[in-house]
Amino acid sequence: MTIWNLGSINADMVYDLPHLPAPGETLAAHGLDRFLGGKGANMSVAAARAGSRVSHIGAVGHDGRWAKDRLTEYGVDTRYISEVDLPTGHAIIAVDAEGENLIILYPGANHALDVSHLGQALSSASTGDLLILQNETNAQVEAAQFGRKLGLTVCYAAAPFQAQAVQAVLPYLDFLILNEIEAEQLRQETGMGAADLPVRHVIVTLGAKGARYLQQGNDPVEFSAHKVQAVDTTGAGDTFTGYVLAGMDRGMPMEQAILQANRAAALMVTRHGTADVIPDLREVRDATF
Ligand code: ATP
Repeated sequence: MTIWNLGSINADMVYDLPHLPAPGETLAAHGLDRFLGGKGANMSVAAARAGSRVSHIGAVGHDGRWAKDRLTEYGVDTRYISEVDLPTGHAIIAVDAEGENLIILYPGANHALDVSHLGQALSSASTGDLLILQNETNAQVEAAQFGRKLGLTVCYAAAPFQAQAVQAVLPYLDFLILNEIEAEQLRQETGMGAADLPVRHVIVTLGAKGARYLQQGNDPVEFSAHKVQAVDTTGAGDTFTGYVLAGMDRGMPMEQAILQANRAAALMVTRHGTADVIPDLREVRDATF
């Protein structure tokens, strides 16, 4: 089976600064690193590292060929990533000596995907394939509708959180994943608690406390997080989601997929970085915790 991911692709530009700039200040950076990022790209890399066949659907600008090449290196099928006349999505991340940060996010090409391109990509999907969406691209509702019509298992990671975006795709979803803060926002803004959602599988991730699985009609199941020395939690949620999808893709019961995702995400928080350091299945199996 294939995991189809309509997902964002970003260049994360990390500038090391002595302090965060004040309004009007010009400040020289000590260094600059460029990483592959974006929730979509992270999830594609995680699912591919977990051993699944992943086809990424998205868009980059003419300056984004390197990002496409990087995804290919990580085993992701990039044939449905189009090149558009807008800059590649990017995050300008300023980090000071204390590790405090300031982020400017520019969606760029991530919001310029042609819907006909999406339809063309999904016309190669087979019934039973998985489709994952997040809230960093355009065409989410169209994708969810196509997915449902084609008999795909439609999954949504509700980040960055917007109640309206969740509500728009909700009728088409088989699986929803969100973190504790997003679940609370959803409850406050729509009155729907995670347990009341009309979705077959819901996972609420709880950071260092683990995760909660809510299957419609069943009691919630709690999973404790592994005890690790966390140094950087960036990308933990995306790694978790990618591994859950890979488990579902392999036909694992959801509980088993979550156990593996919980291990992968625990290992991820012990590492600095995002897409480039997502662990593969062997590392996840061999981890000693
Ligand atoms: P992020 O936005 O930082 O990628 P998130 O907010 O989407 O993450 P979290 O709920 O913070 O998601 O974390 C996802 C999963 O990562 C958790 O369910 C857990 O398995 C793992 N995890 C996160 N923090 C820790 C930690 N300190 N120790 C062990 N595991 C952790």
